[in-house]
Parts: sequence; structure tokens; C-alpha cells
Amino acid sequence: MLRFIFVLYFTVLALGARAEVPPNSPIQQEKDEILMLLAYSVAYLGWVDPKDKPKRGYNIAAVLYDNTQEKIVGVQRNAVGLCRDKTQHAEVRLMQQCIHSKCRGKDTDYLGNATIYSTLEPCMMCGGMMIFLGVSRVIYGQSDPDFGKNIERLQQDFRSDCKYKAESVIGIERVCKIDVPANYRSRKIISEPSTLLQRAQLDGAFASYRLIFGSIITEFLMGDEAENIYRVAHQRLLEYKPDYQENSAVLLESQMQLKKLKGNVGDLDRCLIGGQHKH
Ligand SMILES: [Zn+2]
Repeated sequence: MLRFIFVLYFTVLALGARAEVPPNSPIQQEKDEILMLLAYSVAYLGWVDPKDKPKRGYNIAAVLYDNTQEKIVGVQRNAVGLCRDKTQHAEVRLMQQCIHSKCRGKDTDYLGNATIYSTLEPCMMCGGMMIFLGVSRVIYGQSDPDFGKNIERLQQDFRSDCKYKAESVIGIERVCKIDVPANYRSRKIISEPSTLLQRAQLDGAFASYRLIFGSIITEFLMGDEAENIYRVAHQRLLEYKPDYQENSAVLLESQMQLKKLKGNVGDLDRCLIGGQHKH
């Protein structure tokens, strides 16, 4: 009997250990890469050309992955042109779509234990919404040197209003007392650049583009160089062979999403709030 309990105990322990994938493990890294390739593909399959008029929006897409259900719960693209609404960034749309469709069932009010894969580093609006909704991680497929690092800014531990001054210290004045972070203390979000080669290629290509043509990243993202990088990412996802069998389900799911995108786009390219404008 005692032996049986021991065996049972260690079996449960082993199963538990297998289910828990550490955040920085190679398995998780591969999973992050697959889902990032899906985000690039979502943008690539609806690629907007500079000649397109009217424009749907910019070539930016995002994927929402629910780590609790272990499944993809949404994909979206930027639709600021289609909806004539400058707030319709891919990430905002992704979060709104999830909330409105109750993509996590009863547990949809907040997005804790969910990861967003965005092709571009989030702006202040999207970063703020992610923090507000408790998204746990965001991985981005390109850094934004001019408008990035917003999640880091929102998480700085200081108050700038100096309403609460530190006890007077001789020789030091106007010191803010660091007591309450400027952010929700309990809702920390991890923001990381993707480890994919495509992220490095996009960062490098935009650094050169900036020197020659200027710093408008959305224009760079309509150019041939960006489109080629996105095309290769899409191809890579179609042909992907995972090193870890733990990731075969997420790969299959990602490839199914691609098939769906080539057919009926569903909530993609549809205005989620208000009516759709005819151009
Ligand atoms: Zn944004």
C-alpha cells in the first residue's frame, strides 16, 4: 500500500513537472517563435501596399494566446483606415475582440496568464491597455526606436508629482518618496523582443531606412524590404518542423489559423465598434 502511494505521489509530481514549462525554457522559446511567425503571417496575408486606396490600415498584426487554456484565442490586424478610427491598432482590436466574444469564457474580464505576440513593439495606448487588463507577457517582432519602451515606462517605480515628499534630508531637496509605484503593482507584464531572425532583420532594415528616408515606421512597413521579411516568416511557419514535440499542437493550431485566414477572415478586417465605413 505504502509503495502504491509512493508511486502515485511521484507520478503526480512527474505529470505536474511536465505541464509546467519554465518561461525561459527552449520549449517555451520555440513556442514563442511559432506564435510570432503566425503574427507576421497574419499581417503578410492581408498586406497593404502603398498603392492601395482605401487602405485597411498598417501592416501590423497581433496574436493572443491563452496560457491557461493553452490555445490561440484571437488574431487581429491594424484597421485604422477601414474603421476611420486611429485607436484601432491590432493589439487593441485583439483585446476588444476577446472581451466582446468572451474568448476565455467566464474568465474574460481580465487577460491574466495571456501572451500577446505583436509584430511591432506596442505603443503607449496598447501597452496601457495590456497593463490595465493584466496581460502577463508581450513579445514583439520589431522594436520601435521612436515610440517604443512604453511598457517599461509605465512600470517605473516612481511618482513624478512629488505630492509625497521624502522626509527632509539635509542637502537633498525635492525628492519624491518612492512609496506607491506609478503603475499597478500587482500587474507586472513582461515585454520582450522576439528571438527570431526576422526581428533582427526588421530592426536592422529599419535602422538603415531611417537614415535615408526618415523615421516613419508604418511607411517602412509598407515597403518591399519589410514585405520580403514577412513573406519568409510566413513560409517558415508553413514548413516549420518543431524540435520539441510539446509544440506540435501549437504549430498545428497556428497552421490551421493560416488556412482560416486564406478563406473566411471572420472578425478580421471588420470594425468591432460602430459601423463599418464605406469608402
Ligand atoms: Zn498601439
